Amino acid sequence: MKPINIAVDGPSGAGKSTLARRLAARLHYIYVDTGALYRTIAYDMMQNHAENEQEICDRLRTLKVTLDYQDGVQHVYANGTDVSAFIRTQEVSMGASRISAIPAVRAFLLQTQIEMAKAHSVVMDGRDIGTVVLPDADVKIFLTASAEKRAERRWAELEAKNPGKQTYEEVLADVIRRDEQDMTREIAPLKQAEDAVLVDTTNADLEQSEQMMFDVCREKLGL
Ligand code: C5P
Repeated sequence: MKPINIAVDGPSGAGKSTLARRLAARLHYIYVDTGALYRTIAYDMMQNHAENEQEICDRLRTLKVTLDYQDGVQHVYANGTDVSAFIRTQEVSMGASRISAIPAVRAFLLQTQIEMAKAHSVVMDGRDIGTVVLPDADVKIFLTASAEKRAERRWAELEAKNPGKQTYEEVLADVIRRDEQDMTREIAPLKQAEDAVLVDTTNADLEQSEQMMFDVCREKLGL
């Protein structure tokens, strides 16, 4: 049977990864977090002091990025080393945003993502899945929420881990800056595919958001 592909794109902080993971579990599909692949490259480049575009391209020639699943959780590897535990820092986030604008980096990851979607039914989340990676996806969802709401959620998350370290205003400024960076880059900018369904989670909690996404899938897939 032909695998089903669901593309979920949207800005950071819209709840993409949590919601895409839940949707995949509900449908019994594999969840592919493509941001983790960009993060793996960013982490590897930091470890190997590859800073400018030339150094990054040279390093890509000897780098192999792979992923697998352990108890349903995605793990990412740089040349066989599991780096999953090291890619969620603020430094790697900024690095991933930076290296993801380099065409050679995007080309490097394209085939890995396409192969996953060919081999398995997937819910794949990212920025350019519906527009570039899987233009023929069976379902495309563009998940968003207001910048204020996304900043509020991110701030609450950071406060829970590290109280008093940052203000809401700082987090909001960061959200707006990342949006700007992701939407205005020349290659594969973040934008809603023409045939994507917009799901706005500004006024919805997780359960309601998941249900909205599930309803879109049900309608498109005739479940
Ligand atoms: O989704 P996550 O925050 O983990 O992604 C990290 C960075 O990788 C994003 O800020 C974005 O710039 C980049 N990215 C991308 N294309 C994707 C997934 C992530 O450019 N498909």
